[in-house]
Amino acid sequence: MPSLQLTILGSGTSMGVPTLGCHCAVCESADPLDKRTRPSVLLAYDGRKVVIDTTPDFRQQAMRQRLDRLDAVIYTHGHADHILGLDDIRPYNLKQRSVIPIYASEETQAILRRQFAYVFDDAPTPSSVPGVKLHTIDGPFDLFGLRVVPLRVIHGPQTVLGFRFGKVAYLTDFSRVPDESKALLQGLDNLILDALRYTPHPMHSNVEQSLALVEELKPKRAWFTHICHDLGHAETNAKLPEHVRLSHDGLAFEVAY
Ligand SMILES: [Zn+2]
Ligand SMILES: [Zn+2]
Ligand SMILES: [Zn+2]
Repeated sequence: MPSLQLTILGSGTSMGVPTLGCHCAVCESADPLDKRTRPSVLLAYDGRKVVIDTTPDFRQQAMRQRLDRLDAVIYTHGHADHILGLDDIRPYNLKQRSVIPIYASEETQAILRRQFAYVFDDAPTPSSVPGVKLHTIDGPFDLFGLRVVPLRVIHGPQTVLGFRFGKVAYLTDFSRVPDESKALLQGLDNLILDALRYTPHPMHSNVEQSLALVEELKPKRAWFTHICHDLGHAETNAKLPEHVRLSHDGLAFEVAY
């Protein structure tokens, strides 16, 4: 069975941790595991490098990871914390002398076209703009030999995408997972899922709700992401069941697919 390496590029919520202007214990923590950039993961397999979402911290994440190439971007949805790093793919366009395929739903493509009009307007420019080719996600698809299964999840008033690849699933940004998506989340080795904080939030799952989902889906291991400054890394992990951990920037593991 082949395997891919999954790396958590960012484990933080939309504002990141530390949060600007905040002096709480987590924002001022000396523990590097309490530093969280915006949410994204890197998939490395068969010589390919694929990211899910291009956060405002994409450049910093790519430098930290020594990312030498970029073969594709998959988008979960069009919120700012998931797309704003798109402009920083340009060095890979230049180095690889090619456009980079982007996979996104129709709704997310509409947001990308609006937020990055200069990327899509085909107007001549004396400077560089990201070179992309849009692909619409309307069901499972093959990406360089990896089967990517999109899952619909509810994120406040909207529906966004999570993804399953072999024995791992990545569900950032959800408040509820519908039954038809739960059916696609059985038999996982690793589940990476939104757990913003302890207190409830209209757009995001909290620790209690995410623990209940882990209990229901029974992955071997679960990793929380999209974490805000309410949750200190060491202190929160000490309270979680052994097979459930807060993820952290740079966390990496192998996944069979
Ligand atoms: Zn988000
Ligand atoms: Zn804080
Ligand atoms: Zn969002």
